[in-house]
Amino acid sequence: MKRSIGMKSSYVLTDKSADYEITKISAGNFALGFESESGLFVVQDYGRSDTDLNAEIKNWIGKYKRFKFFYASSPKSAFVKECKNYHTFDIKIIDNKTHPEKPENADYDCPYCH
Ligand SMILES: [Zn+2]
Repeated sequence: MKRSIGMKSSYVLTDKSADYEITKISAGNFALGFESESGLFVVQDYGRSDTDLNAEIKNWIGKYKRFKFFYASSPKSAFVKECKNYHTFDIKIIDNKTHPEKPENADYDCPYCH
């Protein structure tokens, strides 16, 4: 798989567009937001799914305008990535202010909390 995460454009957050773009049933991460006048994707919120990214992202239709997504190889890697977002983003500008929850039955913790 090619890793060009930073280059990936954002998509309109609708049922149709989610089905068109997210074709794999997979764990993964997503970012929600809008596009600025200069065409930059502005992140307002982010999250993950441990099982089905497509289904999860549809919960946010109507609340946010656009999304980006990234498949994860496992629930653990999706969790770790979400934790990294949590510890990296400026919490003041992000709607999601609580620490990500572990996947069910996980025997690991956030590697960034110390
Ligand atoms: Zn943490």
